Amino acid sequence: MKSITISGLQDDRLIRPLEHIGNLFFEDTKVTFTPEDEAEIIIYFNVSEDEDRYFVEGSLDGRQPFNCEKDLANLDEKERFKEQKNAISQVYLKVLQDLTGMIQKWGILTGIRPTKLLHKHMQNNTPKVEAHQALKEEYLMSDEKIDLMQRIIDRQLAVIPDLYDLKKEVSIYIGIPFCPTKCAYCTFPAYAINGRQGSVFSFLGGLHYEIQKTGEWLKSKNIKITTVYYGGGTPTSITAEEMDMLYEQMNQSFPDVQSIREITVEAGRPDTISPEKLEVLNKWNIDRISINPQSYTQQTLKAIGRHHTVEETIDKYHLARQHGMNNINMDLIIGLPGEGVEEFQHSLDQTEELMPESLTVHTLSFKRASEMTRNKARYKVADRDEIQEMMRMAEDWTEKYEYVPYYLYRQKNILGNLENVGYSKIGQESIYNIMMMEELQTVIGLGCGASSKFIHPVTGKITQFSNPKDPKTYNDSFEEYTDKKLALLEEHFSAEKSL
Ligand code: SF4
Repeated sequence: MKSITISGLQDDRLIRPLEHIGNLFFEDTKVTFTPEDEAEIIIYFNVSEDEDRYFVEGSLDGRQPFNCEKDLANLDEKERFKEQKNAISQVYLKVLQDLTGMIQKWGILTGIRPTKLLHKHMQNNTPKVEAHQALKEEYLMSDEKIDLMQRIIDRQLAVIPDLYDLKKEVSIYIGIPFCPTKCAYCTFPAYAINGRQGSVFSFLGGLHYEIQKTGEWLKSKNIKITTVYYGGGTPTSITAEEMDMLYEQMNQSFPDVQSIREITVEAGRPDTISPEKLEVLNKWNIDRISINPQSYTQQTLKAIGRHHTVEETIDKYHLARQHGMNNINMDLIIGLPGEGVEEFQHSLDQTEELMPESLTVHTLSFKRASEMTRNKARYKVADRDEIQEMMRMAEDWTEKYEYVPYYLYRQKNILGNLENVGYSKIGQESIYNIMMMEELQTVIGLGCGASSKFIHPVTGKITQFSNPKDPKTYNDSFEEYTDKKLALLEEHFSAEKSL
């Protein structure tokens, strides 16, 4: 914990945003406005303000001051505070950059979906140069990150030319909360499946019900589905027969299944894949699957609790190919415990042997609830420079083999303040990933831990609704949750009609 005192500011609403920015530099920061004995860093702010102008200067003892000025003319109270917060954040970031020597390429931005900001400009038809300049001025973002965002957005619009018009449709997320074992870094609703057969049976009963009711509602309103995504957990943890019945239910219940643009099933854990399950995926025309190595170093897989072998990943990949799967995604994670440049190069070399249609490169994040975070001392991870080097290796590798970045997101406590990037061969991008990441369409979540997001057709305001995370609560209450969700959908889509 790094304790930082900021002298010259008082507004408590600033504490959290400043702590988030501080966390880009230090593991965990605590910000106070009154000097405390244990404060490790004291930053002095001078603020002057009148009706039209706001001026902030900040410095550390004996170091160069930084400043920022904002025009406040004609702004209401809320807008004034936003500008003031922005000016203080910019100065604070510059002071910490000067102190640590670390340059934050995302600037003061701590949100997880940066591309949304650029989409907003695109929707308003702002010329690119102006949009980029606005992002630089508002967030102090680097050219490198702005360029990455623009490439991603251009790709997204090439894949989904009607991206901004898909508000009238929905996508569906189906969460299956079981895995063979629980990985050490995982915070998803994922329960070891062995010994839970009774619970799986009841859960699937609830899920069939949700699919059927939601399908009925969509048909009655004549609303189309853009994409369907089975995640979890690992949706291929259930048996081939259970998968077969589930997809049959989907086909019977959902409107116009033939016109759904993409159906993905995560088969993340290779130890869940069998010829029978691949046949079921084929039978129901599943377009895309994920088989996730995360790493090709056996020791790492053991350390993070993935009880499968590297050979199994490779074998199951070939098996999936033999069964006609022609759009396979693979995930790699940068910065797994004990891994550095050498191990990551090995993972890239192995990927080269397989050449999946898409490759998602994650950077390890220490999520609060994971086993890894609770026992952090046990897991040694690479330092910031090495993490950055591995990210560069991923960029070079994907460029060399003609994969293009098509979506990105950031997470809190992500190593090196980097991002997760989805790369794909041209034309093989996952439409669901784009829809979900850019929040331009309502996503209905069915199953355990599934979160629904209702996007207001005009304001873009997001209303979230989450199903229970654990199977027991879900099994006891799925009817009630289905009713509430359908009521929210009704409200949302009638608002759209009245426009
Ligand atoms: S396979 Fe995925 S969902 Fe399952 S425990 Fe591991 S990280 Fe979590």
